[in-house]
Amino acid sequence: MNGTRSVIHQSESAWANELRRRALATPVPHDHRELLALFRAHNPFYRERIDATTPWAEIPPLEKREIERLPVDDDPTIKESRTSGTTGLQVTIRNNQRERQFRRALLYRPQLFYDLPSEVRQVVFIDGAECATADSPPKYFEYGEQTYRTWFAGAGAEPVNIARLLTEIRPHLVRGISSGIVCFIEAHGAAFRELGVRYVAPGGEFLSDAWRATMQAAFAAEVLDRYGSTESGAIAWQCPYCHRYHANTDEIVIEADPAGLLTTPLFVGSQPLLRYRLGDIISFDDTHADCRIRLPTITITAARRDDWIIDGAGNKVSPLSFQFEKVPQLAAWRLHQDGAGALCLYFESSHPDTVSAELRRQLAAAVPGRPIATVSGIWKSGWASKFKRISSDLRMPGRTSVTR
Ligand SMILES: [Zn+2]
Repeated sequence: MNGTRSVIHQSESAWANELRRRALATPVPHDHRELLALFRAHNPFYRERIDATTPWAEIPPLEKREIERLPVDDDPTIKESRTSGTTGLQVTIRNNQRERQFRRALLYRPQLFYDLPSEVRQVVFIDGAECATADSPPKYFEYGEQTYRTWFAGAGAEPVNIARLLTEIRPHLVRGISSGIVCFIEAHGAAFRELGVRYVAPGGEFLSDAWRATMQAAFAAEVLDRYGSTESGAIAWQCPYCHRYHANTDEIVIEADPAGLLTTPLFVGSQPLLRYRLGDIISFDDTHADCRIRLPTITITAARRDDWIIDGAGNKVSPLSFQFEKVPQLAAWRLHQDGAGALCLYFESSHPDTVSAELRRQLAAAVPGRPIATVSGIWKSGWASKFKRISSDLRMPGRTSVTR
C-alpha cells in the first residue's frame, strides 16, 4: 500500500525520529478517499466491498469472522500470530518482517518521552515459563537516542528466578503483560523498591486501579500503561507528562464506534485491515490535554478483563497461562470456573473430538486439582460474552479478587 502516510515507508533509521516529530506536531487529518483508493487497488476482497463512491463511514466494518477470507501478499517473510482478543474468537493475523519491525518501533514510541539513560536495561514479562539469567546475553535494540538491552522473564517461571534476574540486572524499565507482572509481585512480595526501576510499562490487558497500585508499590516507580492489540499493534499509551492515553492516530485510523472500536492500521500492507472491529469500548476525550504531545487522547471504558483461575492447591493461575491459540482447528473458546472450583471450557471447532482432548490435556496441566469439562459450543456459556474470555465465580477466602 504505497502512498499512505505511514512512517513505515521511510527508512528504518528514520522511524524513531519521525514518530517523535509527529507526536509533537499538530495532527494531520487522514484523506479517507485516498486511503479507500489504496484498499480498492490492493485486492479483490476490498474491490468488491468498496464502491468507488462509498464514503468512509459507510464501508462495512471488517468483522473477526471475515479475516480468514482476506487475501494475503505472497511474501516469504510473513508470519502468523493467533489471538483470541476480547471475545474468545480465534483470529490469525499476518505481518511481514518489515511490518513486525515497525510494530516494535510504534510500541517503543512512548519511551521517546521517558527520562531514560542512553543505555537502558529492561526486563520484559512475556508468556511462557522460561526466565533469562543475568549472565544470559541480552537482546540489543537501538531506538531513538537509546540502546536497549533486554532480558525476558516468562510469567510462568519460578518467582525466585524472576526476582534474581531483577535484582542482578537492576532494570531501568520493566515492561510486559500486566497479569504476569502482578502475578509475580503477589507470589514474591514487594521487595524491589531499591532497585532503581524508573518505569513500569505494562500492557496486553485492561489495567485496573488495583493492579496499577500493586505495581507502583512493588517497584516504587511510575506506572505508565499501554493499550494495543495483536491485530493493529500499539493503539495508545499513557503519557509521562499528562498521564492521559495518547492515541497513535497518525499510524492507525481509530474510530470510537459505540458498537466497538474500529481500527485501520496504515502500516499493514500484507494483510490490510479496513475498519476492523476490535470491539473494545473507547472514547476520544472532549478536552485537549495540556501537553506538549499533540496526539489526541482517549479513555478506555471496556477492554479485555479476564479473571484469574484458582487451582486445587489454592494457587492463582494467570489468564495468560492458557495458550489455546496454539491448538490447531480451534475456532473459539471461553473458560469458566464455578463457585465450587470446577472448570468448564466451551469451544467451537470443526474437529471437536481431537480438539476437546487437547484442551482437556492442556487445562489439566495448567490448573491441577480441579474437575474439568469441555462443552462444544461457546454460545452455551452463560455469561456476558464480551471483554472476558475467562471468568471465575470462585473467590479466594479472605481476600478480594484483583481483577475486579
Ligand atoms: Zn500527554
